[in-house]
Amino acid sequence: MTKMEVPFFRPFIGEEEISEVEDCLRNGWLTTGAKARRFEADFADFVGGDAEAIAVNSATAGLHLALEASGIGPGDEVIVPDYTFTATAEVVRYLGAHPVFVDIQYETLNIDPSCIEAAITSRTRAIMPVHFAGLACDMIAIEAIAEKHGLKIIEDAAHALPCSSAGRSIGSFASPAAVFSFYANKTITTGEGGMILTSDPKMADRMRKMRLHGFDRNAFDRFKTGNWNYDVVAPGYKYNLTDIAAALGLHQLKRAEFFRQERTRISERYFEGLADLPLDLPARAVDGDVHSWHLFIVRTNADCRLTRDELFEALRQSGITCSVHYTPLHRFSYWRDTYDLKGQDFPNAERAGQNAISLPVFVGMKDAQINYVIETLRELIS
Ligand SMILES: *Cc1c(COP(=O)(O)O)cnc(C)c1O
Repeated sequence: MTKMEVPFFRPFIGEEEISEVEDCLRNGWLTTGAKARRFEADFADFVGGDAEAIAVNSATAGLHLALEASGIGPGDEVIVPDYTFTATAEVVRYLGAHPVFVDIQYETLNIDPSCIEAAITSRTRAIMPVHFAGLACDMIAIEAIAEKHGLKIIEDAAHALPCSSAGRSIGSFASPAAVFSFYANKTITTGEGGMILTSDPKMADRMRKMRLHGFDRNAFDRFKTGNWNYDVVAPGYKYNLTDIAAALGLHQLKRAEFFRQERTRISERYFEGLADLPLDLPARAVDGDVHSWHLFIVRTNADCRLTRDELFEALRQSGITCSVHYTPLHRFSYWRDTYDLKGQDFPNAERAGQNAISLPVFVGMKDAQINYVIETLRELIS
């Protein structure tokens, strides 16, 4: 085989995005304004249901705002999966609360509802499910647990545009909040950015204020009405999304369904081409539900002659860049030492963390590149 370069990811940016950013630069309104507002409205429409959308400058900021507006504070406990990006847990610490880490299901890589139940104490206030790789968590089970124990659900939907659970799209749930990410390599991108969806008007009001310094009225409205006056009702944050970023988001969102179809097509090729290899392939969404295929994660199994790290390196030498999602949080020094975490308490996360490798999936990936990834894997481990 001739060697080929295959990056892990490349964003797809079209002429429409470029023109809209140019319009923003020429019209002179750079920070949060009309484009951000339109992006919010379009996003709420895209997700469906009656949740409203609040644009922020990252999903991390959005998760922080959602927990703050949920009243999470010092000493409270919030249940998070051990197998996630560190942002899911770090925002809990921002508020002086404590993440309580629970194991995942090996098959789906999603939080295990039975582990949630076992972790609940009198101090538990919220659960943060992560729809891992774009496969929705079992929201019916998680909602039942939340209702029984009076807990809030803050969904980390960073991978979840679009995805659905039991026929309902993620973001449209009646949960206090679901938070999407537009980081550079997420399913749509604004460079940096995020969107909070909530169907609770009180939550929405608090998050809008806390997004911008705790002002009761934002700069765009003051500018439009010509009334300069405002009050500060809380020591808020600086988490608003710029119009420059929203300009990208407006057109990325229009492509979101096309992007999903492309990622699905690439994933189906991987399923076909890798079926007989010593790899555990990712779980599919149940019939009728949508998987975003943000990530295509395979796991080396006991029959594989290479370890994950050996396979990663061999692929790299063949020109194929992969990634690892993720190192389980119990393996990072801060989380391990602060909460005295032990690998044996998270057997599925531990196993996934040692064997997982994310293959390249991006819009614009050429057939020859997909074939090359498949053939290289076959040569290395079949
Ligand atoms: C990317 C990501 C985040 C953070 O998103 P940002 O927009 O970069 O803040 C949070 N959780 C998960 C699971 C992610 O993958």
